[in-house]
Amino acid sequence: MSAEMKEYICEAEKALLHTYNRYQIVLEKGEDVHLYDMDGKKYLDFVSGIAVFALGYHNTEYNDALKAQIDKIIHTSNYFYNKPAIEAAKKLKKISQMDRVFFTNSGTEAIEGALKAARKYAYLKDGTRDHEIIAMNHSFHGRTFGALSVTGNPKYREAFEPMIGNIKFADFNNFESVLEAANTKTCAIIMETVQGEGGIYKVDEEFLKKVRKLCDEKDILLILDEIQCGMGRTGSYFAWQKYGVKPDIMTSAKALGCGVPVGAFLMTEKVAANSLCAGDHGTTYGGNPLACTAICKVLDLFDKNNIIDHVNNVSPYLEKRLEELVSKYDFIKMRRGIGFMQGLVFDIPVGEIITNAMDNGLILINAGTNVIRFVPPLIIEKEHVDQMISILDDCLSKI
Ligand SMILES: *Cc1c(COP(=O)(O)O)cnc(C)c1O
Repeated sequence: MSAEMKEYICEAEKALLHTYNRYQIVLEKGEDVHLYDMDGKKYLDFVSGIAVFALGYHNTEYNDALKAQIDKIIHTSNYFYNKPAIEAAKKLKKISQMDRVFFTNSGTEAIEGALKAARKYAYLKDGTRDHEIIAMNHSFHGRTFGALSVTGNPKYREAFEPMIGNIKFADFNNFESVLEAANTKTCAIIMETVQGEGGIYKVDEEFLKKVRKLCDEKDILLILDEIQCGMGRTGSYFAWQKYGVKPDIMTSAKALGCGVPVGAFLMTEKVAANSLCAGDHGTTYGGNPLACTAICKVLDLFDKNNIIDHVNNVSPYLEKRLEELVSKYDFIKMRRGIGFMQGLVFDIPVGEIITNAMDNGLILINAGTNVIRFVPPLIIEKEHVDQMISILDDCLSKI
């Protein structure tokens, strides 16, 4: 590492709040599926800014659209209409089959809105104010208080208690535990369709269908968090679309703006007509013209470049190559995941392996202590999979 890069890292540690143990790299630019640090070292990226940069870096069509919008108008406030927000909402409705959209600035804000909509829906129904929400163990929904309250990892919550009240936790993919938690006060059940931070667990079809049925019978709202697993990562626009069930409320963020901070929560007309109304919810920045231009362009490029087909074509190869590593090394327990959201589960902590991979020009990330997570840009080709496997294999052979 150059003295200059070291100096920047030193400065960062003096100025930034220490809420992350960061990797010792100052990233400067990106090109396609590669990142470059300030010393000019090139990295193959299998993280994409945590499932964000789906289209890769320095996509000129995307960049040009943003530049053009900057020269028109960046912000208007939600007291006015703006064209990019109207277009983005229309496009998002179409790919999600949901009816109404609220744009936010982040994933956690999308969760906050989803929870508020669910509580308001129940409140309008019976006038009581003690409704309950069921969330899943090992889930992750964000860091603000509402989202944190439904995040099924006590380590994240403990120091910040009390959380918002009336949250119950059930076990993901265990319908009995959901039944046990449910009662006449339950207004919503929230889960990720594929758990990300929790270790890359996908929902069982049977479990999801039973939860959907329970929700239908008891008029409970099903909230699916598609912030990480959505936007094509699993080979359909949203992971739930593979299961033949539909949520009442859905959240999106991360790859939705491919780098511009955006999120959204979407709902069916039934929920929209019977929950949040004028004055109930708001945001200064959410849905501003710059952010919505990003969404529009991302969705255009998904369409134009057949990104979903590409994921379906290349991800089986990623799975195959990861399975080879599972067979080769007895300290790797298994592969799990779907599409370009994969995890390798180890018997040993993976921190050092990831650092070694970075030294060798490959960016990876963990999901918990023992899982390496693979959430590459959706445009990777088989050759990138081969390069990644070759570097990782090299690191593993030295253990
Ligand atoms: C990242 C993530 C969030 C939080 O999104 P932020 O934009 O970081 O607030 C919520 N849910 C899931 C599933 C996520 O992966």
